[in-house]
Amino acid sequence: IDPIHIVGGGLAGSEAAWQAALGGVPVILHEMRPVRGTDAHKTEGLAELVCSNSFRSDDAETNAVGLLHAEMRLGNSLVMACGDAHQVPAGGALAVDRDGFSAAVTAKLESHPLVKIVREEVTGLPPAEWDQAIVATGPLTAPSLAEAIRTETGADALAFFDAIAPIVHFETIDMDTCWFQSRYDKVGPGGTGKDYINCPMNREQYEAFVRALLEGGKTEFKQWEGTPYFDGCLPVEVMAERGVETLRHGPMKPMGLTNAHDPATKPYAVVQLRQDNALGTLYNMVGFQTKLKHGEQVRVFRTIPGLENAEFARLGGLHRNTYINSPTLLDGTLQLKSRPGLRFAGQITGCEGYVESAAIGLLAGRFAAAARLGQPLAAPPATTAFGALLGHITGGHIVSDDEPGKRSFQPMNVNFGLFPPLTAGTKLKPEGFEGRFRGKDKAVAKKKAMTARALADCRAWLGLEQQATAAE
Ligand code: FAD
Repeated sequence: IDPIHIVGGGLAGSEAAWQAALGGVPVILHEMRPVRGTDAHKTEGLAELVCSNSFRSDDAETNAVGLLHAEMRLGNSLVMACGDAHQVPAGGALAVDRDGFSAAVTAKLESHPLVKIVREEVTGLPPAEWDQAIVATGPLTAPSLAEAIRTETGADALAFFDAIAPIVHFETIDMDTCWFQSRYDKVGPGGTGKDYINCPMNREQYEAFVRALLEGGKTEFKQWEGTPYFDGCLPVEVMAERGVETLRHGPMKPMGLTNAHDPATKPYAVVQLRQDNALGTLYNMVGFQTKLKHGEQVRVFRTIPGLENAEFARLGGLHRNTYINSPTLLDGTLQLKSRPGLRFAGQITGCEGYVESAAIGLLAGRFAAAARLGQPLAAPPATTAFGALLGHITGGHIVSDDEPGKRSFQPMNVNFGLFPPLTAGTKLKPEGFEGRFRGKDKAVAKKKAMTARALADCRAWLGLEQQATAAE
C-alpha cells in the first residue's frame, strides 16, 4: 500500500498518523522541528502543547469538549490515551504533564511499524505524487508553505494573535498567603478538590492591579492591529480595558473559594494557578495570557498577594494564527475541492484548541486511510461532537448580511450550539423528578440528552455496535 504523507507532527498530524496506521495504511510524517522552529514551540517533541496544559472539561455528560474527549477515546485516539496516561490534577478538567504527554505521543509513533517520521520542512504544497496527503501545520505554519497554500486556494489566510499565560515556579509562591482549593471544591479526574493555588485580593489591591495592567507597557504589533483574539483566550489587559469589573467576573472571580488562612474575610478577587507538570513544580496563571512586555509582567504580577517573590519559568507572549476559509475550500471529508486527495487538519482548518485540532486530525487520518484502501468513509453524523465540529469547518459558513461578500468564518471551539436541536418530544424529565422542571434542571437534562444521542451515534459510526453484536 502506498503511504499517506502528513505534513506537521502537532496535535492534528500526530493523531492523523496514528489513525491511518491503525487502519493499516503506511504513513510518512514530515515534521520540521528541530530543523526549523516556530515562535511558540520549545521542543522537538511531537504534539507539543504550546500554552495551557489543559484539555479543558472532561465531563462527557454536560460539556461539549468533554463529549469530544469521550468520542475520541471510542475512536482509539492517541492524543487522549497519552493525555489520560499523563494527567495532572485539575478539578473537573483534564490537564496533562506537557513533557510526559508529548514524549508518549512521540514514542508511540516512533515505534509504530507503519509510521516513518522525517524531520524536514515541507516548503510548498505536497507534490502531485503524494496523492493522499494531509496538511496539519497548525496556526504557526511555516511561511513558504503558507504562501503556497494561499497561491493554491486563491483565498486569503487570516493571521491574528493569540496570547500565552505565564508559568511560575511553585517554590516561589508564598503559601502563607495563598491556599490550595478547587472552585466549589470540585473533584475531577485524578483530582483532590484542592487542585488550584489561590491568591486573594481585597478591593484596594484589585483596583490597583487593574490600573497596573492598563498602564503597563505592551508589546506592539502594529502589523496585525485590529485583528480578533481567540474567544476565551483574551489577553488579561484586554479584559481589563473592557471595564474594572470584567476580570472579577472572569478569571479573577472569587466565587466558590474560601481563604484557608482567613475564612471570615471573603476575597474581593482571586488569581488562580493550576499545576503545569506532573512533579508539581510549575504552576500556570489561569487566564493570564498577556501581551505585556516581559519586564512589565514580572513587575505587575509580583503585586499579586502571594506572588511577591514569584520566579517565572515562562512569561506570557503573543503568537500568530493561520487558518484557511474551509467552508468554501474543503469538502465534507476535509479534502481540498480543487485537489482531491489533499486534506487539511487541525487548527489550520479553523477549529480552535488542542482537543478540537486532534479530533479533526483523527477524522482526516481515517478519511485518508479509507480513501487509500478504496473504502470511502462517510462523515460522522452531525449529532456527534465529531460531526458538529466538522460541520462548523466544512459547512457552517454564514454570510453576513451587514457586510456582503465578506467571509464570516471564524475559528471556534466545539460547543453545543454546533449540534442539531433534539427532536421534539425527546424525554428530558428524569424518572421520579419532583417539582417544576425548568431552568437549570432542564438545561442540564437537554445537554445530557444531546450527549447520550451523540455517544450512541458515534458508536454506530465507528462500527462499535456491530463489533459488540458480533462478539455476543
Ligand atoms: P500544531 O500543534 O502547532 O502542529 C503543527 C506542526 O506543524 C508543528 O509541530 C510545526 O512545527 C509543524 N510545521 C509547521 N509548518 C511546517 C512545514 N512547512 N513543514 C513541516 N512541519 C511544519 N489551544 C488550546 O486548546 N489551549 C491553549 O492554551 C492554546 N494556546 C495556544 C497558544 C498559541 C501561542 C497558539 C499559536 C495556539 C494555541 N492554541 C491553544 C491553539 C491550538 O489548539 C494549538 O495551537 C494546537 O497545537 C493546534 O494543533 P495543530 O496540530 O493544528 O498545530
